[in-house]
Amino acid sequence: MITPELRRGFGILGGTFDPVHSGHISLAKAAMAAMPLTRVELIPAGEPWQKSGITPGIHRLNMLRIAVECEPLLRINTMELCRLGATYTIDTVRELRHEVGPAMPLVLILGMDQWTNLSTWKDWQRLTDYVHLAITTREGIDSTIPAKQEIWARPRYAQPEHVSLEASGLIVRFSMAPHLASATRIRNAVAKQPFAKAMQSVDGWLPVGVSRYIREHALYQYHDR
Ligand code: ATP
Repeated sequence: MITPELRRGFGILGGTFDPVHSGHISLAKAAMAAMPLTRVELIPAGEPWQKSGITPGIHRLNMLRIAVECEPLLRINTMELCRLGATYTIDTVRELRHEVGPAMPLVLILGMDQWTNLSTWKDWQRLTDYVHLAITTREGIDSTIPAKQEIWARPRYAQPEHVSLEASGLIVRFSMAPHLASATRIRNAVAKQPFAKAMQSVDGWLPVGVSRYIREHALYQYHDR
């Protein structure tokens, strides 16, 4: 049981959130349940270097605002949206560390797809200079990582409850109930069929307000209904 006085520092969950869905919210809540953090900050990417053609930041931000309205432990941090040019996680964690000072625990939360891809990120081996990494499983994603990443990670593995003892440097794993939601599948579903049918096919993956926002702003819809 993590009591409030044990909680220190905060988690960081970056993503395109195009759109935010209940898999993201479950992931953030699972992180709060597993680690002694005070909150999780969701950081929507400005111009992700590995993705193109994403929805304008203002829509992704508005959907996030709707999704966290009733989630007191989840906040939105717009630092990447406000940055011009390519977004690299290493720049974000360096900037955050500079803002909060050397002592506060910061935990970068990664889904399995991001963890297995980590060694393609800019300066990935420097990430733990600024933050801890916390990894969870994702339904349908293989957890194999490249050998050089495993060698780098091995001496850093620790238990999730230990992230409050140091500011950065550890790699922990935590569990979450499998959640099938994926933003790509939501966008594809909305693009291919009438909206009501699309919503049935994504099986409650969107908070109601977010699904209303998508409909009102005709996001992801490529033909008239
Ligand atoms: P896309 O399908 O466009 O790649 P996504 O659904 O993976 O989007 P992102 O915004 O890229 O969403 O994800 C942000 C973070 O949330 C990543 O770490 C990703 O692994 C994690 N994540 C997203 N959906 C889930 C899920 N259903 N279960 C666990 N982790 C998830």
